[in-house]
Formats: sequence, C-alpha cells, structure tokens
Amino acid sequence: MERTYIMVKPDGVRRGLTGEIISRIERKGFKIVAMKKMLISQQTAETHYGEHKGKPFFEGLVRFITSGPVVAMVVEGPQAVSEMRRLMGATRPWEAAPGTIRADYATTVDENVIHGSDSPESAAREIGIFFKPEEIIG
Ligand code: ADP
Ligand code: MG
Repeated sequence: MERTYIMVKPDGVRRGLTGEIISRIERKGFKIVAMKKMLISQQTAETHYGEHKGKPFFEGLVRFITSGPVVAMVVEGPQAVSEMRRLMGATRPWEAAPGTIRADYATTVDENVIHGSDSPESAAREIGIFFKPEEIIG
C-alpha cells in the first residue's frame, strides 16, 4: 500500500472539476484518506515547488498555485504514486494520453488542473507539507 499527494489546482477548482477528479480517483478504487480545500501561502508554494526554484516558470507557477483555493488530498492504494501519475497524464496536456485527466481537461502546461507526487519520496515530503498526521484517516 502506498500514499501520494494529489491536489486539484486553482484552475480545476475554478472550473468546477473537483468532483470529476474525485470520482475518477474513487472509481479507480483508490481511497482518499485525507482531503481539504485551502489557500496556499506564498511560502508554502515555494517550499512545495522548491525543486523548480530558478527555472523561468517558477514565479508564474507560485503566483498561479496561490491564485485561488486548491483541493488537497492524500490518496492511498497499490502503486498509488505511479498509478495516479498515469491517470493524470503528462505535464504537457498535448502530450498526455487520451482519457487521462490532463488530456481531457487541460490545454496548457501552466494550467494543467492537477498535481501528483512524482515519487514515493516526494509523496512523503509533500504530504508532510500539507497534512498533519491526525488529519489522515486510513
Ligand atoms: P508535474 O506537475 O507533471 O510533476 P513538473 O514537476 O515538471 O510537472 O512541473 C510542475 C508544474 O509546473 C507543472 O505541473 C506545470 O503546471 C508547471 N510547469 C512545468 N513546466 C512549465 C513550463 N515550461 N511553463 C509553465 N509552467 C510549467
Ligand atoms: Mg512535479
């Protein structure tokens, strides 16, 4: 059993896609063991996306992810990290496989609807940024 950090980004929340995304996760058979709607502070955004600091899109990315509420989740299941990446599709929506969330609901790389951890190590780090242990109910 594995856990991953999933977040409906501000564009997904604004466009009313939260329910659709939750239902895809549940239909798959994964369990949402924690969830909250929240505003991300600038400092938390910079920590979460720390690996991208210095890249040309970093400032825009931080501005975007703090531009409105997100829905943050911890998703649990077998191979949850890689399987959620597969359900999400590639970072660039035009490269995402048909039927994936990004292929179906996004057109641009800067507003691509959903975040998912890229490794079990990232998942542990990101879950720790957004959730207290007592907020995770297995
Ligand atoms: P992923 O979200 O698939 O893990 P990355 O970790 O590479 O992708 O990038 C984090 C986020 O930064 C992406 O989801 C996307 O929103 C944004 N991003 C990545 N590359 C670019 C880019 N070239 N221009 C604008 N935004 C980008
Ligand atoms: Mg990433």
